[in-house]
Amino acid sequence: MSAAARRPRVIDGIAELREVVCERRAAGASVAFVPTMGALHDGHLALVRRATETADVVIVSVFVNPLQFGPGEDLDRYPRTLDADLDALTGRGVDVVFAPTVAEMYPDGPSSTRVTAGAVGALYEGASRPGHFDGMLTVVAKLFGIVQPDVAYFGQKDAQQVFLVQRMVRDLDLPIRVEVVPTVREADGLALSSRNRFLSPAERRAALTLSEALRAAEAAGPQGVAEVLAEAEAAFGASETVQPDYLVVVDPVTLLPVEPEASGPALVLVAARVGATRLIDNALISLR
Ligand code: AMP
Repeated sequence: MSAAARRPRVIDGIAELREVVCERRAAGASVAFVPTMGALHDGHLALVRRATETADVVIVSVFVNPLQFGPGEDLDRYPRTLDADLDALTGRGVDVVFAPTVAEMYPDGPSSTRVTAGAVGALYEGASRPGHFDGMLTVVAKLFGIVQPDVAYFGQKDAQQVFLVQRMVRDLDLPIRVEVVPTVREADGLALSSRNRFLSPAERRAALTLSEALRAAEAAGPQGVAEVLAEAEAAFGASETVQPDYLVVVDPVTLLPVEPEASGPALVLVAARVGATRLIDNALISLR
């Protein structure tokens, strides 16, 4: 079988994964890592592409991490499509898919050690999903410890997530480079998400409101923060299908809300419920 058509090797055990990485490292290989929850789409594949461009060995993890889902969230209905994920990764230069069970990752159950995300982790997504970022950082720290990559790839789509991962790496002095890949969108602007598959055709149309709000925010950037918020909020209109959760303009360096008179680069973060599906998106804009 040609290298191009090779299906990645699937490993579900931590010890086996470590062994494979150790062997390749001993032979001088560099290691890139792409953590995912599976249900792979072109956004994930953009991360994989960057990983294969920079390292000798590429490891993708597929793990739906129960720690980052709150009570009443969509842990049970989150799509689990490992076979299709392996098909999607075939021929893309991925060496290993690490797909552990929950018991393999958390043998002592949910009472084990956690990483806490701090103040920024309690804002925006963290305010709507208490404990989400502690759970996310905990699994990312574990995966970093298991894979020990030189470089890990994350999507700008989850701006607060990648901010917190970068800060964890700095705060805990983890010897890993974090690279951010731009958001991949559908032709009409909708950010790709594993949760988009839950949208009915009408909800799919309504979901465009998020990227439209971000485009309106970007266009209003030269007029300042108040106008950015007003224009983006107007894009939401009075739809029954789309219930906005938060819409904020934040400093890309601190992720804290900007002052009303702020100028320069800013990040607009948006979240909304479209039917029963919660979607997030963001855009970098230029103020004044
Ligand atoms: P998930 O499987 O949703 O946890 O996402 C795994 C990684 O893929 C995260 O780093 C996400 O930010 C990234 N990702 C998800 N959707 C996109 C997208 N549309 N464009 C770029 N990266 C994405």
